[in-house]
Amino acid sequence: MKNLSGIPQNISDEILGKVTFKGVGLFSRKDYVFVAPNTTKFPSGYFAVLTNMQKREANQPIVFEVQQYAELNEGDIILINPDGSINVLYELHSTHNAIMATERCNHRCIMCPQPPIMQESDKTDFNLKLLSLFDKHTQDIGITGGEPTLIGDNLFILIEYIKKHLPKASISLLSNGVKFSDYKYTQKLALICHHDLQIDIPLFSDIDTEHNRIVGVKTFFKTIEGLYNLALFRQKIGLRIVVHKQTYRRLPQLSEFIYRNFPFVFHVAFMQMEIIGLASQNMDELWIDPYDYNAELEEAVLNLARRNMNVSIYNSQLCILPDSIKDYAKQSISDWKNIYLPKCEGCEIKNGCAGFFASVENHRYSKYIKSIKSSL
Ligand code: SF4
Repeated sequence: MKNLSGIPQNISDEILGKVTFKGVGLFSRKDYVFVAPNTTKFPSGYFAVLTNMQKREANQPIVFEVQQYAELNEGDIILINPDGSINVLYELHSTHNAIMATERCNHRCIMCPQPPIMQESDKTDFNLKLLSLFDKHTQDIGITGGEPTLIGDNLFILIEYIKKHLPKASISLLSNGVKFSDYKYTQKLALICHHDLQIDIPLFSDIDTEHNRIVGVKTFFKTIEGLYNLALFRQKIGLRIVVHKQTYRRLPQLSEFIYRNFPFVFHVAFMQMEIIGLASQNMDELWIDPYDYNAELEEAVLNLARRNMNVSIYNSQLCILPDSIKDYAKQSISDWKNIYLPKCEGCEIKNGCAGFFASVENHRYSKYIKSIKSSL
């Protein structure tokens, strides 16, 4: 998520509000944060004010010296913390907005980009407040974690809320699928009848012990049971395969396993790894130059595509992919963490390329990255 900072005054609790530069009517101001660049005239009634001006006496909640205010847009939603840090939780013009249902998880994946915490207070009320500030025309919402199903039936409250108040939004629920081995729980999800809900579930191997080693617990068969329950209730399922040193060798076998056992899945995504969190700590066990697994990736992708399965490659750079599978590559990296390298300068296919996670700057990327000067 995008983060800003400034010097807080009169802020003792978190403030969750919608950004406005233009200003809103007197009676709506309590949900808004007014952004006031280059002025010390601060209108009253807003939840808080942000400004790039130097700190001075004020009797309302203000964050001074926010130099990055131009990164905000009218309608974004921010969380202001008492220390003056500001998290952008929703961007009006992004298609990658998500709410984090919980930071807890029952898996311990070796490449987890967001290592779970053990305990937290329930975030459901906070998330409902956050959703209430979303633009009514929002098209896509992710529900992530942690593992979202760990909040139990509160997950259904969030989905019901989206269905009722954000009716145009599709939902991508990122889950390890274990909880859906519970027939009744899956039934409750299905009974919501959301018009466009996809449950995206990671699967790392066709061999149970391999999958279990990567996720850190013995849940392979629970996940499989979850997939079948979701299929039983005709839910839209996506499978996600993060490719790294421990998964790449069996990609062809895994693709065959998927075709034979889960022909009902709506989408299969092979994903280049994001190198943050545990992935960064476990680099020696995980890193392989993505170019070096092209043979396995190509076989797996084409194996599914030939059978008319809907398959994509996420987070990969076009210049390192074989021509035969370039068309499956998607621009999948969230805007706020999407970068291109200096060597991408002048590349003719940059507009269609996913580029890199911002974290790549401190870690590794393929040594075969090469600006394409002529795509003819
Ligand atoms: S050079 Fe950069 S922009 Fe061009 S294909 Fe490679 S990674 Fe993408």
